[in-house]
Amino acid sequence: IWKQVLNELAQEISSVSFDTWIKPIRPIALTETHIRLAVPGSLNKNMLMTKFRSLLESCIELAAGHPCEIEVICDTPDSSDKENTDPIREQNFLNPKYSFESFVVGNNNNLAHAASLAVAESPSQKYNPLFIYGGSGLGKTHLLQAIGNYFLKNYPDKKILYTTSEKFTYELVIAIREKTNQDFRNKHRTVDLLLMDDIQFLATKELAQEEFFHTFNTLFEAGKQIVLTSDRLPSETPHLADRLKGRFQMGLLADIQPPDYETRLAILRSKIEEEYFTFDEEIVEYVANNIKSNVRDLEGAVKRILAYAGIERTNTISMELAQKALKEILSTLPQRDITIGVIIDEVEKYFRLPSGSLVTKRRSNDIAYPRHIAMYLAREVLDESYPRIGEEFHRDHSTVMTAVKKIRQNLSGDTELNATIRELVENIKKN
Ligand code: ADP
Ligand code: MG
Repeated sequence: IWKQVLNELAQEISSVSFDTWIKPIRPIALTETHIRLAVPGSLNKNMLMTKFRSLLESCIELAAGHPCEIEVICDTPDSSDKENTDPIREQNFLNPKYSFESFVVGNNNNLAHAASLAVAESPSQKYNPLFIYGGSGLGKTHLLQAIGNYFLKNYPDKKILYTTSEKFTYELVIAIREKTNQDFRNKHRTVDLLLMDDIQFLATKELAQEEFFHTFNTLFEAGKQIVLTSDRLPSETPHLADRLKGRFQMGLLADIQPPDYETRLAILRSKIEEEYFTFDEEIVEYVANNIKSNVRDLEGAVKRILAYAGIERTNTISMELAQKALKEILSTLPQRDITIGVIIDEVEKYFRLPSGSLVTKRRSNDIAYPRHIAMYLAREVLDESYPRIGEEFHRDHSTVMTAVKKIRQNLSGDTELNATIRELVENIKKN
């Protein structure tokens, strides 16, 4: 179709104009009602939208057989071209794309979604605080910002603050240095809605925890809504002060799990539609079968496929093209086989021990404890036999058995150990 459009256009305008303004256009997407074109800069965009718009529209209608709404985007984003100019939104780094409308609800996230919506609709009345937790790329920031965007639209006179625990900590340090503590407090303690992303990073910072404790109390007592996200439960966050754990658990704890197959399909369809594209069902299923980790990776897969289509200058996505695009993604997810050696490496890294120290004879507690954890993991993750594990650690099998048993017992009461194990398993799998 695009070729046809170009032919039509070439007849209508001078070749200089054609070369300057029309040639650089890259068609990206075409649906029943829309065509999306990419151009190299905002000057090109303005020319297209003013001088050539109606001509372009009629050529496209001629070629496509029906009228299409033209959308032009710039390949190289240019700051004069910002569409999002709401000052409050910008100040808060709220991304308008993160809305409830664009959030796909599935079995994995329905509680977190329902709770977020409830909080947005009736703030401070239902769940306070709302604590959303789950792994990376599963939609925590999306939901948090959806609440913010909802507020912005529906209660324009209320004060919102979206921040992250890292930003909070950083600003606190600056405030102390520059003696602007009062400004810092005003900023954080006078809002109607506080959205704090990735609270887990607060855990190792004592001063920030102290400050946040007071921020939390001030807002809470004034009946203001607080929403927090984290990659884990408060009770499983090492170094998080008990009084903060207590506060975080007062409202609702809502988890987000990795999406199941059905939800992955629904998310893919929605992401493809957002790009004004359609994929064959077979290709959507292929992607959903191969990318299981999280939503961010699903999104990445769609983008990669579309980029390939762009390179090959085609608007039809073939299975072959999808496979080619995904092969690249899948190969970047590392596939190293897990061995006892890998586990030992990871445990040593985690506890900052010199390489090889776990397999020495040393018995001091700072080595024995990580060694027990490594043995436990070798048993649980790899299902290796006790004698095999013993061989690797230069110990006999009964020592290994005792160690594994001990860790198993400790796990039932020790939340910090639980978190450690979980993190290690993640690191090992990633590796
Ligand atoms: P997290 O904060 O949990 O690491 P994000 O909220 O940043 O994850 O989500 C990663 C990407 O996936 C974002 O682009 C987000 O819009 C998208 N996303 C996550 N969950 C969903 C969902 N249920 N529906 C649509 N998009 C989603
Ligand atoms: Mg996030």
